Amino acid sequence: MKMHIDGKQSDASDGATFAVLNSATQEFIDTMPRATERDVQTAITAARAGKRIWAATPVHERARILMACADAVDARREELARSLSTEMGKIIREARSEIRVCAQILRGFAEKAGHHYGQTMTDYQIGAENDIIFTRREPLGVVACISPFNYPVELCTQKFAAALAAGNAVIVKPASDNPLTLMKVIGICLSRGVPGNVLQAVTGSGAVVGGVLANSAGIDAISLTGSTEVGVAIAGHAAKTLKRVFLELGGNDPYIVFDDAELELAIRDAVSGRVQNAGQTCCSPKRFLVHKPVKEAFVKGVIEQIGKLRHGDPLDDTTDFGSLISPRAAEEVQSQVEQTISQGAKLLCGGRLYDKTYYAPTVLDRVRSGMDAAGDLEIFGPVFPIIEFSTEDEAVAIANATRYGLQAGVITRDMGRAMRVASRLECGGVVVNSSGNYRHLDQPFGGYKMTGVGREGVSVTLNEMTQEKSYILKNILRPPRS
Ligand code: NAD
Repeated sequence: MKMHIDGKQSDASDGATFAVLNSATQEFIDTMPRATERDVQTAITAARAGKRIWAATPVHERARILMACADAVDARREELARSLSTEMGKIIREARSEIRVCAQILRGFAEKAGHHYGQTMTDYQIGAENDIIFTRREPLGVVACISPFNYPVELCTQKFAAALAAGNAVIVKPASDNPLTLMKVIGICLSRGVPGNVLQAVTGSGAVVGGVLANSAGIDAISLTGSTEVGVAIAGHAAKTLKRVFLELGGNDPYIVFDDAELELAIRDAVSGRVQNAGQTCCSPKRFLVHKPVKEAFVKGVIEQIGKLRHGDPLDDTTDFGSLISPRAAEEVQSQVEQTISQGAKLLCGGRLYDKTYYAPTVLDRVRSGMDAAGDLEIFGPVFPIIEFSTEDEAVAIANATRYGLQAGVITRDMGRAMRVASRLECGGVVVNSSGNYRHLDQPFGGYKMTGVGREGVSVTLNEMTQEKSYILKNILRPPRS
């Protein structure tokens, strides 16, 4: 496959490529160009021209085009879902859902952009009674969208659909392990009327492509979803040109089960929330804080539930559990599990890498405060670190003892306790009576602390993708001199 640069299907200027593999089987699927710095500069130059064209395109026309993109994505849902499932090991049911959500996001921003209003000031200020002041929201210019591998289509669409609806030109940098389906979606958008210098996609090394984008004065904003390490690096580069930075980063979300919880629900949603996407979800529960009186029963139930999961071919409709993205990712989970055991955890089930990219759902008991998995170690795989607590205060303290703060789940029948705990948790969202593995498209989604900067969602991203200009009609209301 080729890149999309300035309306052309492009190879890298030096001809370099990298391979994209089927995650579950490690079979070769296709190559992608490995962009050079020159290629990225070409895209930036094109985007500087594209941003003027697109900002001058009325919002009703931009919205019409984005709606057509959504319809075209929907029409090819099954083909795109199979492509996504193949290149990343995501089970086909989840892949279909991701493509459906992609179309919904396009529609959501197209609708919202038509009603994204400015403000009008009052005559509150003494001496300004005859002035009229109103504001309009104007595009930022060129927005770079750098996206991760785990929901490659959905999470990038959250960025580029919002940026386009708001009138910006966009350069997308997909994750390198699985760029193919996202590139197809971008191809669809180009074929439905988004100009070739308004939406471009450049593939290759994160450090090279992402580095040029983050450092360039030709980029006005950079929106990244990815790891906290990469987010910190990008923020450092971006600071030199004071470009806006929106960051959706790592998490180690708590799932807090109290002794009055409906235990069947607590077990079911713990497992479904953790094993979705084979455990590779930013907001999946990653630490299981369980009240002492129900801990044994909870752990037993989780192990039983895990035993019912059907592992296998991600393309098979009956499979519940697919592969991780790469052998490297599976080895990383293995080493994190070993690290946690070496710090005192007890392995109750799983703890096994198989078929190169599969990792068996793993329960680790006796995880305690101070161990890495209880704090800043984000395990991006199907692992259940179990942490026992005795009091509400203790649960809140453990939950907050991390540099991260994306979402959380609180399981209790006592709504007073649920709200009390939710209000004390340092995170961007709390789900009551399910896991924090939840994202409504409209919801302002994002994190506290080192999980990021900004919020994404149809209700909020257009604010982030625009800047507000004040128009002042000075003395316009002054009565004519007689
Ligand atoms: P990653 O940080 O390795 O990569 C993300 C993107 O950044 C990729 O496109 C990559 O090529 C690019 N990149 C890598 N190095 C770069 C650099 N130096 N400069 C610029 N770009 C660079 O993340 P990943 O492994 O793809 O995704 C997993 C991580 O993302 C996890 O930590 C997960 O929690 C997080 N995540 C967060 C959210 C959220 O909404 N908060 C959502 C999904 C994933």
